[in-house]
Amino acid sequence: MDIKEIKINCPKCGKNIILDSIPYWNYKGLVRCQGCKRTCSIEISGGRLTTTPELVYSLNPDFKSPPIPNYILEDFKEAIICYSNRAPKACIVMCGRSLEGLTNEQSASGNTLNEKIKNLHDNDVISDTLYNAFTKIRTLRNIGAHSSPTSIIQPGEDKKILDITKHVIEHVYVLPLLLD
Ligand SMILES: [Zn+2]
Repeated sequence: MDIKEIKINCPKCGKNIILDSIPYWNYKGLVRCQGCKRTCSIEISGGRLTTTPELVYSLNPDFKSPPIPNYILEDFKEAIICYSNRAPKACIVMCGRSLEGLTNEQSASGNTLNEKIKNLHDNDVISDTLYNAFTKIRTLRNIGAHSSPTSIIQPGEDKKILDITKHVIEHVYVLPLLLD
């Protein structure tokens, strides 16, 4: 084994991702495949992979300059980082924050996120389906943000909320442009 580099198989395209062993000898985080440009999450201990590399969820790369307000995008990117680092509660809280940013940007009135979502729905800014999606994110966000013995995030719920949040953001900011 060449100790100067660590080779990892890209879970997307199968090409080798070659890492310098000195900075990556013990490492938990993200790496980018030079072949397919996708990012994956890895964990290396003592120069060896300890988990199967997992492809990291990301916004559709086709949207090179998405018309999504930067602060909403930044929160959503942070949600992706939390998900990739197996921090489900933090992931869901960041999804809720993205959603809150979206309701504010859409000039929703109300004091709580719940009231803002209702306001957008009452004013026909969001459909019944989007209203249900917003409510699902908000409910889980509350479980993620407030500690109690019964506030538990079930396995897989972070991925589901990340998916729903991505759909909501694309629906509000990207879909209207595609219809033009
Ligand atoms: Zn690749």
